[in-house]
Amino acid sequence: MYSKDVTAQNPWFIQESDLSAATTAAHETQFALANGYRSLRGESPFCPAQYPGAFYAGLYDKSEAAVTELVVCPNPLPFRVYVDYDEVLVGKKGASQYTRVLDMAQGVVSSWLTYQAETGSRLTMKSDRYVSRANRHRWAERWEFRADNFSRRIIIKIAIDGTVLNNAQHPLDAVKHLEVTDRGRLDVGAVSGIFLHARTRDSGVPIHEGEVLLCPDGEDSLKLLLCRPLAERVEAVYELHLEQGKPLVLYRLGFGQAVLGKANTEIGLKEGLSDFISSGYEAELSAHRTVLAQFWEDADIQISGDDRAQRALRFNLFHLSACANPLDNRVSIGAKGLHGEGYKGHVFWDTETFMLPFFIFTQPKTARSLLSYRYNTLQGARENARQGGHKGARFPWESADTGVEVTPPWGVDYAGHLVRIWTGEQEVHINADITYAVLKYLQMSGDRLFLLEQGLQILLETAQFWASFAQWNPERQRYEIRNVIGPDEFHEHVHNNTYTNYLAAWALQKTRDLVHQLETEDPDSLKNILDRARVTRTEVESWMEVAEKLYIPMDKERGLFEQFEGYFKLQDIPITEWDKNGMPLWPKNLDLRRLNETQLIKQPDVVMLFAMIGEEFSQEVKIKNYEYYEKRTMHKSSLSPSIYAMVGLGLGKHDHAYEYFIKAAETDIVDNQGNTSHGLHAANAGGTWQSAVFGFGGLSIDRDGTVRIEPWLPPHWNKLRYSFYWRSVRLIVEVQQELCKVFSDTPLNIRSGDREYRASQEGVEIPRKI
Ligand code: BGC
Repeated sequence: MYSKDVTAQNPWFIQESDLSAATTAAHETQFALANGYRSLRGESPFCPAQYPGAFYAGLYDKSEAAVTELVVCPNPLPFRVYVDYDEVLVGKKGASQYTRVLDMAQGVVSSWLTYQAETGSRLTMKSDRYVSRANRHRWAERWEFRADNFSRRIIIKIAIDGTVLNNAQHPLDAVKHLEVTDRGRLDVGAVSGIFLHARTRDSGVPIHEGEVLLCPDGEDSLKLLLCRPLAERVEAVYELHLEQGKPLVLYRLGFGQAVLGKANTEIGLKEGLSDFISSGYEAELSAHRTVLAQFWEDADIQISGDDRAQRALRFNLFHLSACANPLDNRVSIGAKGLHGEGYKGHVFWDTETFMLPFFIFTQPKTARSLLSYRYNTLQGARENARQGGHKGARFPWESADTGVEVTPPWGVDYAGHLVRIWTGEQEVHINADITYAVLKYLQMSGDRLFLLEQGLQILLETAQFWASFAQWNPERQRYEIRNVIGPDEFHEHVHNNTYTNYLAAWALQKTRDLVHQLETEDPDSLKNILDRARVTRTEVESWMEVAEKLYIPMDKERGLFEQFEGYFKLQDIPITEWDKNGMPLWPKNLDLRRLNETQLIKQPDVVMLFAMIGEEFSQEVKIKNYEYYEKRTMHKSSLSPSIYAMVGLGLGKHDHAYEYFIKAAETDIVDNQGNTSHGLHAANAGGTWQSAVFGFGGLSIDRDGTVRIEPWLPPHWNKLRYSFYWRSVRLIVEVQQELCKVFSDTPLNIRSGDREYRASQEGVEIPRKI
């Protein structure tokens, strides 16, 4: 058992010691366990879930919902204990010593509780839970019971609950996506349990859940009393015989699957559980730990001198990694991960722009799979373009299973009013964000097969969209992109958004460059890819006219990009007050319904360009624009602070970097946005990694592809250590206040300042500018 003191100090652990109605739902996100295929929100074993959430990646359904959404699946977690018919619950008078700990190194959540029934019988319990990262269908719990002052039976009830709804808390939006097709008792050899089969109502995906309880002490200790099939739920009630002072162990083995399309073969529940019973809890736990150990080996970042930052950073990496499955390229990661119903499980630019860099640099196979999801949804993206009367492919602002736009048309604004949501029609920059991620992946991995099979086709079809979307303005002799929304969503229906236009032109240019390169290297493959993309060779050249003449608004005298045409003429309202975390408060008397008439912005827009393709701009331009836009940024999206930390550090702006970083890192661990209950801020998790590695770690890639390292540490950090892959070469960077050492498993030239160094296994020292 962990003692509280140990956990409080150990930056591998997340601990909770109480569970109030106000925090339960957020804690369910924080203690969620997932493996990229399935997830189980962190329902405490001693308290019914507030927002029950069992999800399968990529399992969407529409039914009566406004748009297709990630389905809340039957919940296999309910587990109730009764001592002398008194239900054990954490909030009751008899409950004490409640602790729950997430061990991020092992991927196990452990919970402890002592419960004194009204009769005086006292029971001490511990439960461990994991969702296996080795065999993605499996999850399990190990229970330990100790009767402190009695020898008698206790009652245990388990259930699989198919009565769940999506948006259950919302009076207008609650939807039932499931039809329970069967449920009942399940016998696997001598072991008993329960099963439930369901099917999504529109998409027709079969879902199977099953679980068994077993006691190594044998039948005398654990006995099934009854199995109760209810309309959409199944329960089994057991008695467990305890002897005073003698601990008794119980295993609960679970198996689940959602059969998404033909590519998945259906594994029978009995077969799945029978295999699991044969290999057992401990063997699966050990396989799960091995996978996780490899993950930490590849991706851990060590910070010494700051346990608060260390723990928060690991928390983000643990949960972000739990959302991805390198073996299934039909699915991607939603804005809230697999951790909740927020944003309906939809996939945004968050994945390519914020999360992908983490995967590209630490787990390239997963990155490839996530990009392939876009390739596999190209058909939907083509339909989006056609719907708008354009050529090529327009990836949806919000994506689900097909690539067809699924942004809800209506939402609620900051003042609580129902408003039309335009992002689905107008936030077209997503196309270039995907280009950015494809190119970053290719640059870091050198994966030529991906380029030939999928990557270039994505670039060509999205480029074709840009060329047909940009309009020629004959009066001004320039191309324009009108009526869009940039990353800053306070301003809708804007013309010539710098971020969008710059990246669109960049994407056209980069695509053409790749076509040229392939023409010399492999003309046959090129021809084949052009045919598949339905793009002609002449068309590619014609895009250069668009790229060169696409208008980028700029105030040349001040060296400032104008966020969009007309932005500088808007009301310039200063931000004068900040909260205790240094985050801006709304200026007094501001009419929140007229934000679009001000220069206040929600999140980085021009500055976002520097985060992504910083090598395109001079330091001088970056500094001027950073200083201008930082003063006007309200950070009303969790995607904001990490970018200011990272870009600022690259510009030598160290003052606020740590504040921004810690705000980002702690978003979900302390729930500083107040909506962790809806799920993980997955983009922010990726942004936190970027600000640690690209920001403090000073990692960037020069135009010629050379790795550059120019770190800076906050004064109280003794050391920062991170690692990444460059074309299968593994590099480890260790930064101390006065020293930086770079290790590489294969000799590699790297740069810092204006000098080159040769990194090798022994490590090379890079002087630090202090
Ligand atoms: C942000 C977007 C983001 C979305 C999903 C919005 O609040 O403005 O940039 O894609 O949330 O995370």
